Amino acid sequence: MGGASGILGDGKKAVKVHHLVKAPENTPQSISRRESWDATKPATVYKTPEMLQDGTPCTAATVILRTKGCVWWWKSGCTFCGYFNDVRDDVSADDLFAQWEEAKRQTDDFKGCKMVKVYTSGTFFEDRENPPEWQEMVLKETHERGLELIVEAQAHLCSPEKLSWVAERHPGCTVAIGLEAYDDTVLRFHCNKGFSTKTWRKSVSDLRDAGLRVKTYLLFKPPFMSEGDALNLTCEWLKEVAPLSDEVSINPMNIQKNTVVDRIFRNREYRPPWLWSLVEMIERTHDEIVNSDCRTIVHPTAGGRIRGAHNCKKCDAEVVAAIERYSVSRDLREFKGLDCDCKKVWRTEISNDLSLPSPLGQGRDRRLSRVDMVRAP
Ligand code: SF4
Ligand SMILES: [Zn+2]
Repeated sequence: MGGASGILGDGKKAVKVHHLVKAPENTPQSISRRESWDATKPATVYKTPEMLQDGTPCTAATVILRTKGCVWWWKSGCTFCGYFNDVRDDVSADDLFAQWEEAKRQTDDFKGCKMVKVYTSGTFFEDRENPPEWQEMVLKETHERGLELIVEAQAHLCSPEKLSWVAERHPGCTVAIGLEAYDDTVLRFHCNKGFSTKTWRKSVSDLRDAGLRVKTYLLFKPPFMSEGDALNLTCEWLKEVAPLSDEVSINPMNIQKNTVVDRIFRNREYRPPWLWSLVEMIERTHDEIVNSDCRTIVHPTAGGRIRGAHNCKKCDAEVVAAIERYSVSRDLREFKGLDCDCKKVWRTEISNDLSLPSPLGQGRDRRLSRVDMVRAP
């Protein structure tokens, strides 16, 4: 980290970020693949069912833009973040305006939507990542049209000055921060997050002062952590961060290509979380969370797939569906009667993880036949 510090940080050295070599993401092949896309089109645009701030069901448009990407990623980067696939350091302000127009075209001008999530693979209101005139346009336009807005940010970039600038243009919008873990050791050594829990707490109080809403992401099972630890720790973190947040979204690890977690996954040193662990976490924390003002969401992205949270394959679809239903109903009965032979395997793994001294865990890492295990890298 030391060698790259200051390149973007203080503006003293105006070294072009391109010169950094971050293998394997910056190999000529990766760069040419990454630069093959059209900078005037957003990466992804889709609509999903959502809930408004007051709890009313609605439709939300999600717009994932192609941007210069996260300053932190260019310097160092989180161990699980594969956003660099959608970034490029030559995206211009004109491109971003064009991407926004294209997003509106694809959604029929946000038809039927009451909420827009604007994801920029980094911090929305960081001027080195996104041009301020574009930020301003998005904030104002969504506000004038009465659309609820969610943007993302890193904690240490939530300066009171910038937050009040944001709040003047879109009062009451939601800022989602990827906290991942409420534990400084985990942030530093498992996530390489680039900020501390103290910085996060400060950003939460600054967000409140600016009248903005706080959404917190937690990461279930960061790399270099056993299943048992992930389960126990995430339950604790959830109980601690929920009272400070308006909304908490627990994201079970899904492995994105060419990240650190991808490397250890391919080396059979990491298995994405079990769906049973998510069910167990929900059951353990339900009573404390359900009556609080904080809304919690567990959405297993790529659930049931080998790179997402999964069980034994046979029961995956059923368990994912129950977790999704719970996110809406808040009713533990969704999990009644769910069972499978693999639950015993999971239970044994958890109890071994918590009783034997092996920090990376005891579980079988891959869901493959023995022959494929030998073959697969
Ligand atoms: S701060 Fe966010 S965008 Fe930046 S590297 Fe970490 S996860 Fe990725
Ligand atoms: Zn099963």
